[in-house]
Amino acid sequence: DQHINDSVFTTHESEVRSYCRSWPTVFNRASGSWLTDSDGREYLDFFAGAGSLNYGHNNPILKAELIEYLTDDGITHGLDMATVAKGRFIETFTSKVLEPRGLDYKIQFPGPTGANAVESALKLARKVTGRESIISFTNAFHGMTLGALSVTGNSMKRAGAGIPLVHATPMPFDNYFDGVVEDFNWFERVLDDSGSGLNRPAAVIVETVQGEGGVNVARAEWLRALEQLCRRRDILLIVDDVQMGCGRTGEFFSFEEAGIKPDIVTLSKSISGYGLPMALVLIKPELDVWTPGEHNGTFRGNNPAFVTATKAIDTYWADGTLSADVHRKGERIHEVFTDLSTRHEGLSTRGRGMVRGLVFDEATAASKVCATAFGSGLLAETSGPSDEVVKLLPPLTITDDDLNRGLDILARSVEEVVA
Ligand code: PMP
Repeated sequence: DQHINDSVFTTHESEVRSYCRSWPTVFNRASGSWLTDSDGREYLDFFAGAGSLNYGHNNPILKAELIEYLTDDGITHGLDMATVAKGRFIETFTSKVLEPRGLDYKIQFPGPTGANAVESALKLARKVTGRESIISFTNAFHGMTLGALSVTGNSMKRAGAGIPLVHATPMPFDNYFDGVVEDFNWFERVLDDSGSGLNRPAAVIVETVQGEGGVNVARAEWLRALEQLCRRRDILLIVDDVQMGCGRTGEFFSFEEAGIKPDIVTLSKSISGYGLPMALVLIKPELDVWTPGEHNGTFRGNNPAFVTATKAIDTYWADGTLSADVHRKGERIHEVFTDLSTRHEGLSTRGRGMVRGLVFDEATAASKVCATAFGSGLLAETSGPSDEVVKLLPPLTITDDDLNRGLDILARSVEEVVA
């Protein structure tokens, strides 16, 4: 019997007992782009664990690899031991992801989650520079632990801390000022002004596309200007690629298109490829000042995750096929969203690759669209400071038929809500 009494889960009122979302059902099984609930009803998953399932649920190629590893009594918990699974991952990530892109980074395993990676990046930047403050952006999201929350720009989430956070300087994200690409000279003037009280920060932390913040896309020119500011002032540049990395925007790293080379990169979510907890921090070699034991954690080395992560890279990143596919499918979503935006007042669209937002000027409409879509078997989530954006993150490996089917459901839901 797969039936679970609904009352063990809470809904919106409290998230204490469960991280329950607006989807009022109990899910049970999942395969590819589909989830099944305990009543046997099927849903297309355009949420995909907020970008943790870029290769779909229970991807058969990764599953076979994992089953073989477990059948052979492969190590599951290896803490800081050197293991074959970990070694293979490091070799594969270096030779197939970093080297072909001309990137030279040391790889640190900070702990299992995105927030762990962000904490580690912030600590390292402060330790390397001996400076305290971090620059972060309006609408940024970097995680819920105290350091990561300090650089998160959402007042409601910050309020949950209850106490003052680590010192961070908020800056306007790209497009805050109506499409003007800044050179950041204004920031340097404030920095040089002894009357401003601003100390030189240790680092800037930025998402190239703000996922939780409402699919806000930073333009390549803006990212390059930001990198130049960092170089001029000897400030470290951290790109948080937890949600946009691993192919979401079309390239493996979301910053590739802009041609910038961050000092530190955080990755998590889809890096294991199988929805298993795993995170990485990539560090320019000269910045590796950790001494052994200075940043440790019991679940830093998830060996089954190394196994699926290695297989995912071998399978999907050996050539440019997946990249081309992501761009093509992303264009398809963009087409549908553009069509809806031209036909309906108060709608617009933004995004890159396979992260796309449909923006409503009336906040409640986006939630209504998601609720209506759920009724027709599609999972999609809202994002943005007022939940005014329907954000789509389908698995990158979704079939064209399933993508079109989901987009049809979404388009019909929009028509129903805005009619
Ligand atoms: N950084 C970014 C950009 C994210 O989107 C998220 C999660 N939504 C995090 C960090 C935090 O990751 P986690 O929830 O695994 O701690």
